[in-house]
Amino acid sequence: MGEHAPKISFVSLGCPKALVDSERIVTRLRAEGYELTKTHEGADVVIVNTCGFLDSAKAESLGAIGEAMAKNGKVIVTGCMGAEPGQIRDQFPDVLAITGPQQYETVVDAVHEAVPPAHDPFIDLVPEQGIKFTPRHYAYLKISEGCNNRCTFCIIPKLRGDLVSRPAADVLREAERLVKAGVKELLVISQDTSAYGLDLKYAPSTHGGREVRARFLDLSAALGELGVWVRLHYVYPYPHVDEVVGLMAEGKVLPYLDIPFQHAAPAVLRNMRRPAHQEKTLDRIRRWREECPDLAIRSTFIVGFPGETDEDFDFLLEWLQEAKLDRVGCFRYEPVTGAPANEIAAPVPDEVKEERWHRFMQAQAKVSAQRLKGRIGRRIPVIIDEAGPTVAKGRSKWDAPEIDGNVYVASRRPLRVGDIVTVKVERSDAYDLHGTAV
Ligand code: SF4
Repeated sequence: MGEHAPKISFVSLGCPKALVDSERIVTRLRAEGYELTKTHEGADVVIVNTCGFLDSAKAESLGAIGEAMAKNGKVIVTGCMGAEPGQIRDQFPDVLAITGPQQYETVVDAVHEAVPPAHDPFIDLVPEQGIKFTPRHYAYLKISEGCNNRCTFCIIPKLRGDLVSRPAADVLREAERLVKAGVKELLVISQDTSAYGLDLKYAPSTHGGREVRARFLDLSAALGELGVWVRLHYVYPYPHVDEVVGLMAEGKVLPYLDIPFQHAAPAVLRNMRRPAHQEKTLDRIRRWREECPDLAIRSTFIVGFPGETDEDFDFLLEWLQEAKLDRVGCFRYEPVTGAPANEIAAPVPDEVKEERWHRFMQAQAKVSAQRLKGRIGRRIPVIIDEAGPTVAKGRSKWDAPEIDGNVYVASRRPLRVGDIVTVKVERSDAYDLHGTAV
């Protein structure tokens, strides 16, 4: 790119979904001839993609805006926190523009206004798959925006609105482009993946000469035909999830379900207003595993939700022992400004939250370690994330990037990032597997 290309410094905060938004904005700006720089100093404008989900995330976002103001002074704010501009304006009256999540056009307009695009952009310099913030061998694929649920601890529907699904053909076109550009693993994301298509009344769209309905099962099956790993995130246990487990058993999509259960005690789930919660979840997990013995289940939980009693928490611990989930994250409840959960019951004292969190983590650590031990002796495919002189770092089908564990692979021949190799598992520890390429 020429010497006079306008320079943009980009800060991306928040969840994988925000990352996808960042990628879209950057891809578009690059196509117009803007250049990215790593530092705020010397950039013509700074874009901060914020996260406003938790109060701690807001604080981080405000910190990032402050830093950009101090080091550069020309700042455009976008993302979840931009949906409530008041707080940002109060602290930083001089930011150039504030836009909400998914307002790509508005962000791009604001950039044009701050620093006009250079003439004659070298469009060809944009790689085929766009500018990826994630490594090239895996990519997040967002299938919908927004959410129809109203979980009491969450303000995402307020920030992002109701569910808007992309037509199946749209998603498949993007997926094919990514695969053509070398992506080996697609991570399907949205706020509520199994609700996909509800807003479209599951309408079909035409892709590759045939009709694909905007249904979770149909889309998963079509993605499964692309010949790459397909991983499903943020799935709620609606009844039709059972059908997708069939695709996993057939090897069409990865035997991996990321289901944020958040709790197990009926009273807490009711207070959380979680979608598709039911008391027979343990039976369903059992049936899924019968059908697909290799299935790995990852989940997240919240402890210390307002009104959570000792009995509720004990119920959760017992449930965990029975469910034997593979990977689990746990958060101490944090009140989110504007979320109805704060009004439901008296808050759980911090020290109780802390104690419950430790007990939860200890109980689960044993379960996870045992599940991993069960993999020793097997020969499994591993995707390589980081090459190394003697040991490479990769992941099994049971591990998503960033959030799950790794497989450390000893190998005599050099392994490249994105390779999928067969590994004999020799050892496990609390989180990871270790083995040798065969
Ligand atoms: S499912 Fe619940 S937690 Fe997830 S985005 Fe929707 S309202 Fe929020």
